[in-house]
Amino acid sequence: MPQPTLPPAKLLINNRWVESESGATFATTNPATGEEICMVAEAGAADVDKAVQAAREAFDGMRWRRMPASEKGRLLLKLADLIEKHADELAQLEALDNGKPVAVAKAVDVAAAASCFRYFGGWADKVQGKTIPIDGNFFCYTRHEPVGVVGQIIPWNFPVMMLAWKLAPALATGNTVVLKPAEQTPLSALRIGELILEAGFPKGVVNILPGFGPTAGAAIASHMDVNKVAFTGSTEVGRIIMAAAANSNLKRVTLELGGKSANVVFADCDLDDAVNGAHNGLFFNQGQSCIAGSRVFVEEKIYAEFVEKSAAKARGRVVGDPFDPKTEQGPQVDQVQLDRIMGYVERGRNDGARLVCGGERLPGPGYFMQPTVFADVQDEMAIAREEIFGPVMSIIPFRSVHEVVERANSSIYGLAAAVWTRDIKKAHTVAHGLQAGTVFVNCYNVLDTRAPFGGFKQSGIGRELGEYGLQQYTEVKTVTVRL
Ligand code: NAP
Ligand code: MG
Repeated sequence: MPQPTLPPAKLLINNRWVESESGATFATTNPATGEEICMVAEAGAADVDKAVQAAREAFDGMRWRRMPASEKGRLLLKLADLIEKHADELAQLEALDNGKPVAVAKAVDVAAAASCFRYFGGWADKVQGKTIPIDGNFFCYTRHEPVGVVGQIIPWNFPVMMLAWKLAPALATGNTVVLKPAEQTPLSALRIGELILEAGFPKGVVNILPGFGPTAGAAIASHMDVNKVAFTGSTEVGRIIMAAAANSNLKRVTLELGGKSANVVFADCDLDDAVNGAHNGLFFNQGQSCIAGSRVFVEEKIYAEFVEKSAAKARGRVVGDPFDPKTEQGPQVDQVQLDRIMGYVERGRNDGARLVCGGERLPGPGYFMQPTVFADVQDEMAIAREEIFGPVMSIIPFRSVHEVVERANSSIYGLAAAVWTRDIKKAHTVAHGLQAGTVFVNCYNVLDTRAPFGGFKQSGIGRELGEYGLQQYTEVKTVTVRL
C-alpha cells in the first residue's frame, strides 16, 4: 500500500501550525485495518476563540478586505492547480483516512475539489449588484458584501470535496473561515491547509481546526463573533446547529443534511441502464452518500426482473482493500457506522423485508460489509424511512405514476430523487412532482460545481454550488443616494 506523507497533525490558525491550547490530541484511524494512522491536535473552545479572532482580524484588515477581487480569484485558481498537482497524494490520504477506493478518490473527490476552487475562482471578480429604478429622484444600487467570519463544519463521507464546496464560495466572496473537518477524516483538510499556505493566502483567512462536534463544532455554532455557520451532516446535528445559532447571535445558517432519496423506475425505461444507475446511485461511496438512492421504487411489470438483476450486480461488487485498483467498495468509515448499518439490516429482516443478497459483515480487520439488497420493502418500514448511510438497497414495487409520486414524497427528507423512463412527458411530469432539491432523469449522482445542490424539507436550508451557492455567502446592501 502506498504510504502518503502525512500532513502536519496540528491546528492551522493564522497561517501557523499550532498545538491545541489544552494539548489534547485524538487518533485518526484507517478504516480498512482499524489501526491508528496518527494522533492529531484536538481543538477546543479556546482554540475556536483564537481562530475566530484571527479570522476577524483578517476580515477587517487590509490584506484580505482590500485585496482586489481578481487577486482573490487568482489565489483560488492557484489552489485548484496545486490540488491537481498533488492529486495522487490527496487521493491516497483520502483512501487511507476514509476507506474509499483510491481510484475513486482521485477521479471523483479530488477532481471535484479542484473543479470547485477553479469555478469559484472564476466568480471572484464577477459578483455584482444591481442598479434599481426606485421612485423619486434617487440613485439606488445594491452591493453584495461578504458576510464576515464564516464557521464551516463538514462530514467524513467526502472530506476534501466537502471542504472545497464550503471554502471556495466563501473565499470567492471575500469571507474568512474557521473550518472543522470531521473527527474521522482530518488528514486531507490538513494537507489542503499546507497547499493554502503554499498558494499564498494572507494569514487568518483560512483556519482549520480538527476536533469533535460537541466541543469544537458547538463552539463554532454558538460563537458570538461568527457571522454565519455552514454545516453538512446529519439532520439531528443540523437541528442542534440551528438552535445554537438562534440562541447566540442569530448567525446565518445553511444546512445540507440527510436524505432518503427515491429512485423511481418505470417499466418503459432501458432496464439495464436503470439497474446500473440504481446500483451506482446507492452503492457509490460504500452507500455513505447523502443523496444515496436508497428507496428504489420499481413498476410492478418489471419488478421481479429488476430485483434479480440488481441482486446479481450487488453480488458481483468487488469489496476489499481501497488501494487495490479492482476494488469497488472499501470499508465503512468506522465501527459506529458499521454497527448502525447492521442494526438496520436486522430491523429490515425483523420487519419482514426479503433479504435478496448480502446482509453480513465481513470478517475483520476493518469495517467491511457485504453489498445488501432488500426486496418487498414496505413504505412504513424503518429501512424505507430512515437514512441508513451504508450499502443497503431497498426495492419497493409500485403501480401508477400518481401513486408513486405521492409515496416518494411521503418522507421528511427531500434531497435528491431520480426517474427512469423513455417517455419524455412522464419524465418531466414526475421530475416536477417530486419534492427534492435535485432530480436526475435517466442518470444518478451527476453533480457539477456549476449546478446548485441542496435539500427540500428536513434535508436542509440553502443551496451550495453554482451561482445560487455564491449568494449564501454575501449580504446584500442597498445604497440609496438623493440626487
Ligand atoms: P454528524 O454528527 O452530523 O457529523 C457531521 C459534522 O458535524 C462532524 O464534523 C461532526 O463532528 C459535527 N458535529 C457533531 N455534533 C455536533 C454538534 N453538537 N455541534 C456542532 N457540530 C457537530 O454525522 P455523523 O455522526 O458523522 O454521522 C451520523 C449520521 O449522519 C450518518 O449515519 C448519516 O446518516 C448522517 N450523515 C449525513 C451526511 C451528509 O452528507 N448529509 C454526512 C455524514 C453523516 P464529529 O467529527 O465529532 O462527529
Ligand atoms: Mg480516519
